[in-house]
Amino acid sequence: MALIVQKYGGTSVGTVELIKHVAKRVVATKQQGNEVVVVVSAMAGETNRLLALAQQLSETPDERERDVLLASGEQASSSLLSLAIKDLGFRARSFLGHQVRIETDKAYGKARIKRIDSTRIKRALKDGEIVVVAGFQGVDEEDNITTLGRGGSDTSAVAMAAALNAKVCEIYTDVEGVFTTDPDICPKARKLIRISFEEMIEMASTGAKVLQIRSVELAKRLAVPVHVRSSFNEAEGTWVVEEDKGMDEVIVSGVTYDKDEAKITLLKVPDRPGLAAQIFSPIAEANIVVDMIIQNASEDGTTDLTFTVPKADYKKAMSLVEKTATAIRAEGVRVDSNIAKVSIVGVGMRTHAGVAAKMFQVLAREGINIEMISTSEIKISVVINEKQTEHAVRVLHETFIEKQGNL
Ligand code: ADP
Ligand code: ASP
Ligand code: MG
Repeated sequence: MALIVQKYGGTSVGTVELIKHVAKRVVATKQQGNEVVVVVSAMAGETNRLLALAQQLSETPDERERDVLLASGEQASSSLLSLAIKDLGFRARSFLGHQVRIETDKAYGKARIKRIDSTRIKRALKDGEIVVVAGFQGVDEEDNITTLGRGGSDTSAVAMAAALNAKVCEIYTDVEGVFTTDPDICPKARKLIRISFEEMIEMASTGAKVLQIRSVELAKRLAVPVHVRSSFNEAEGTWVVEEDKGMDEVIVSGVTYDKDEAKITLLKVPDRPGLAAQIFSPIAEANIVVDMIIQNASEDGTTDLTFTVPKADYKKAMSLVEKTATAIRAEGVRVDSNIAKVSIVGVGMRTHAGVAAKMFQVLAREGINIEMISTSEIKISVVINEKQTEHAVRVLHETFIEKQGNL
């Protein structure tokens, strides 16, 4: 008998009808002779609705109370799915984060799972029950409710699969798998049969929200087989696997975009040792994640320093940077929140030269101005004007994927 973990995302459980559909699918897996643990997200739109409610009361809601509120979305859906399974004549039991005991650190809104006590789940499975676990939530060591960050149910599912030594962690969503780019904006996007953990980590961290980054990092570290597939049909989806020979023959596996960052520029920063530390330390202390950084030295002993932060944090970052700018006598601070980061990702970049040049040529041909560039071994990202995002994604997809990147 195999143990299978299935995670259903918000759009897959968005209505009562869809919850009934998921229940049938779960029951079918059980009837095939498997033990089934289901991890469920809040119904589509619910997390945003709850967030907006909290924001009506406070622009920056108390983090502990906000997590208590947000976790209720998954509490509702886990109970509804258990009810639907029972209605089909099967035994089911829902568990919240504190009931399983999914223990996390104390970082409200972006907590990390430290350990899972699977005793109660194993007991329920032994009793023949289908187990439904609320995703996205845990408790810290003092039993405060925490949440794992947007898209966090993916991470709950992978962690659960690891804790139970499941045969597979199936991520059910509203698309058939991981595509070469977001199928919502590029009709020519293709489903990938397999993708390496490393590429998936880069794709997730550059905007492909189909899997939360941490879920992929965890799956890689704990060797959890992940299968991303559609909850609306039976088609085989995408397997996230260790890289193997031959994968690097494909230069670019995916094109991604991210509209959730803003760009901050400090003008004419005196060029002295220690100033970068002085600028970025307060931002780090405020728990704001800085993504790209560029510094341009000028001849008059000053430099312009530009970096990106999540859009949600840019006002907070600006007020910190403005204080530092005055203290260090920089000329001023500028912000631009109408930017997007567009990236190409592929393990083949390690062994193929000229990929960056080709990317820049294509963007130049299309009249798309590049404002920032950053690279890793298997990724090239550029920051451009937000309005040109879809256009950039489509031309890069055409060049590197539809035409297989003839350099
Ligand atoms: P869920 O609610 O099931 O967790 P998400 O909305 O978090 O689903 O993720 C699925 C969505 O991710 C898809 O509907 C798709 O629009 C988007 N997406 C972005 N990039 C990709 C990609 N490369 N492959 C597949 N889906 C992608
Ligand atoms: N409900 C949470 C969110 O909307 C977690 C998830 O869906 O994975 O981000
Ligand atoms: Mg998701």
